[in-house]
Amino acid sequence: MEPLRTSLKPGSCDDGRRKMMEDYAAGHADHLEFLARELEMRKLVPTAASAAALLATPRVGDTRETSCHVCQDDFEEEDKLRAMPCAHTFHQRCIFRVLSVNRLCPVCGYQLPADDEMP
Ligand SMILES: [Zn+2]
Ligand SMILES: [Zn+2]
Repeated sequence: MEPLRTSLKPGSCDDGRRKMMEDYAAGHADHLEFLARELEMRKLVPTAASAAALLATPRVGDTRETSCHVCQDDFEEEDKLRAMPCAHTFHQRCIFRVLSVNRLCPVCGYQLPADDEMP
């Protein structure tokens, strides 16, 4: 059997990646380890809950945006909003859901602190 790495040539990244996925799907790897590596590759780190709690709470109308980039819905008068330090604003429910798995702003990639980066 030829070594797995032979398919990972420059310029054939997608093929190499698909091959890797297939090899994993074939069932000879620890699936949890695979998921952990996927998360690491995409740098998905949850936001520290204390950092998310500190996000500003602008009123509808005071923000640059008029709609939420997570759910694409327009902001309504009674919606609770949260603004990231980069000033991108989302529904509180939407951005908190995102930040619970990923500490990056969905629009610009601004990075919030993770748990181990809080004082
Ligand atoms: Zn939303
Ligand atoms: Zn942003």
